[in-house]
Amino acid sequence: MSSSDNEVFSLLRRRMVSSQLRGRGIRDERVLAAMERAPRHEFTGEQDRDQAYQDHPLPIGEGQTISQPYIVALMLELLEVSPDAKVLEVGTGSGYVAALLAELAAEVISIERHGALAERAGELLRRLGYRNVTVIVGDGSLGYQPAAPYQAILVSAAAAEVPKTLLAQLAEGGRMVIPVGGPEVQQLQVIHRENGQIHTILREACRFVPLISDQTLR
Ligand code: SAH
Repeated sequence: MSSSDNEVFSLLRRRMVSSQLRGRGIRDERVLAAMERAPRHEFTGEQDRDQAYQDHPLPIGEGQTISQPYIVALMLELLEVSPDAKVLEVGTGSGYVAALLAELAAEVISIERHGALAERAGELLRRLGYRNVTVIVGDGSLGYQPAAPYQAILVSAAAAEVPKTLLAQLAEGGRMVIPVGGPEVQQLQVIHRENGQIHTILREACRFVPLISDQTLR
């Protein structure tokens, strides 16, 4: 890609941040800065590059999608990630959200059940220089016990209910953001563990591809 392409993409990115994100109430400056840096067009398919900064989700292969920029920003803002946090993402997909989490946190573990997507995302993240992300192939509804607990857990696929195993891997003081509901529509939930207690806040309606689990949720 030429340097003028890069200039065009960075202009489109600045516009995305000001109109789709700031313009709709996203206020977290760290999230806004990360979204202004991360090259979303690298994570969409080649044929969709010119649409990468538009206000909608895009296909990423294997029947999966990269979420709309606004929903990504909202979830990251609700997650309140601190720079020293260890974060778990469930549903790596293209790797875009993992890249943003890598900008915001110290360490990111991202789990994807689809081997081909996980491999592609892992390679891309390495090529782009994100050194603090590990992509793992597996069933993310079971979390990833070897690196638990996590100060933040972001679930990028729709769950029928909050997986208990994930909740158990949330650190004291930590937050989880997860879309919960049926296949057509879900509601974002922000789950906060404070003094050993779980608090849940219900937020915006959203629509994600389903979290597919081979196990019954525990
Ligand atoms: N965050 C991604 C988009 C995720 S789409 C991005 O930035 O591109 C949801 C992803 O969750 C899909 O790639 C799907 O394969 C994956 N997924 C669904 N169920 C899963 C499970 N149980 N464990 C891990 N990944 C899962």
